[in-house]
Amino acid sequence: MRLVFLGAPGVGKGTQADRVSANFNQPKISTGDLLREAVRNKTELGQEAKRYMDQGQLVPDSVVIGLVRDRVGQPACARGFILDGFPRTVPQAEELAMMLHECRTQLDRVVNFRVPREQVVRRLSGRRSCPACQTVFHVEFAPPAKSGVCDRCGQGLIQRSDDEPETIEARLRVYEEQTTPLVDYYRGKDLLVDLDASGAVDSVYDKLAKLLPRHGAT
Ligand code: AMP
Repeated sequence: MRLVFLGAPGVGKGTQADRVSANFNQPKISTGDLLREAVRNKTELGQEAKRYMDQGQLVPDSVVIGLVRDRVGQPACARGFILDGFPRTVPQAEELAMMLHECRTQLDRVVNFRVPREQVVRRLSGRRSCPACQTVFHVEFAPPAKSGVCDRCGQGLIQRSDDEPETIEARLRVYEEQTTPLVDYYRGKDLLVDLDASGAVDSVYDKLAKLLPRHGAT
């Protein structure tokens, strides 16, 4: 299965992509995760990307396209993948179509995660993550057993710098302006399915699984 998860920051794409990845044994490719890893490793690319990420802006297309091209071409992705947070612009989508065409394949489905804006802001502002093992928690919806401490590895949890209120607003604005055109782009290609992602993680997953190609949805 070759899937794209589309939707505003905070709609739960990453959480659901992790589940689909584990249950269907397909690698998840998250450009946000790849960029944060580059930032942590202080690579040249990471240092360039950080300037945009800290302001809630998109990293230039050429940078993220290079990251995705490296992954999609790897043997682990030959049987499929879940793209989380890519593409985010029409040029990225066009580039993805070309990459897949070169591998004589194409996307199976694009899932459009939809959540009301107030909920997105609540989800993003309560999100906390572990800087060591990257596990993600939420102060309200998925709190760790001990406040502020990672259940998995005991490290202190942090808030992503781009989950602070001003940056959240900027990211949502950027999403509206630069990423929502992809909804029509993929609808026009008959690849888009809408998902009401406003419920609890388990119930969203149940709805999502029914939309995936292996379940015979059209
Ligand atoms: P995410 O974890 O998907 O919310 O991404 C965090 C940040 O990484 C975004 O706010 C952007 O600055 C950057 N980023 C992630 N994916 C992309 C992409 N496909 N194109 C441009 N920038 C991206």
